[in-house]
Amino acid sequence: MNNIVNSLQKNNLVKEILAWKKRRDAVILAHVYQPGEIQDIADFTGDSLFLSQQAAKTQAKIILFCGVQFMAETASILSPKKIVLLPEINAGCPLADMAPAEKVKSKIKELPEVVVVSYVNSSAAVKSLSDYCCTSANAVQIAQAISAEKDILFLPDMNLANYVAREAKRKIIPWSGFCPTHHLLTKEEVVKMKKLHPQALLLVHPECRPEVCDLADYIGSTRGIINFASNNQVKEFIIGTELGILYPLKKNNPNKIFFSASNNMICPNMKLITLEKVLYSLQNMVFQITVPEEISRKSLIALNRMIEIT
Ligand code: SF4
Repeated sequence: MNNIVNSLQKNNLVKEILAWKKRRDAVILAHVYQPGEIQDIADFTGDSLFLSQQAAKTQAKIILFCGVQFMAETASILSPKKIVLLPEINAGCPLADMAPAEKVKSKIKELPEVVVVSYVNSSAAVKSLSDYCCTSANAVQIAQAISAEKDILFLPDMNLANYVAREAKRKIIPWSGFCPTHHLLTKEEVVKMKKLHPQALLLVHPECRPEVCDLADYIGSTRGIINFASNNQVKEFIIGTELGILYPLKKNNPNKIFFSASNNMICPNMKLITLEKVLYSLQNMVFQITVPEEISRKSLIALNRMIEIT
């Protein structure tokens, strides 16, 4: 009985959200780490690069971003004339917080010759101090586009930095940040899962530790992982990234089996957004994410360099 009531309430909520979306002329973007019910109401789901591209292209007046703060900031930088809403103002990113702009500024002063590449998972202020932006899907390509004679200060994720150094064969100075959700996956957990599912391929995100990546059959962004699993003949996969990705993987590949490398790979920030908060956000036009003009202008240079290369 409770299930029927819940499902009716959910259907009503979704109907209201869709009506308000139309009334506000809004587009809803959702990262694949969002809860399944949020992904279901989105116009576009995907990784940060794909969603940034949609934000830049959209004709809608309002971008409602179901993700975390740095994603909404990026959308605002790419679409400065649009209103960008984040339904939960406390949805931050601990990885981005590990590189405060003031510390980055001091490091750049110490190392004036380096080329600064910042992962999109960084604050707008940090992007504005960077020469290039990158995502996990294009970080190797961006590093390869930089002269091999230059040292690269890569921030904020040290695991992604190590992966890029290895793949792009560039000298990289890593910032010592990490994503708590990906960094907690251990080699021991992966070995155990591989023993339990010997037929399965291991697909991991490059934010995982190097010793975990060493065991992987494929290392890639969330979009890369989804494409790899969907296009591969193999039927079983162990997935080493945030659990939200299992939702589109299972939905798009009903004949395949997906195991999470660890059931602890949940980003609490990504799970803060609910249907109720999306509705409230559209009704009350909160929380509007804006980036100061000077920071936005400088960040856009780094973002555009990334877009040009890729
Ligand atoms: Fe940040 Fe990691 Fe959460 Fe992504 S999964 S938002 S990088 S803490």
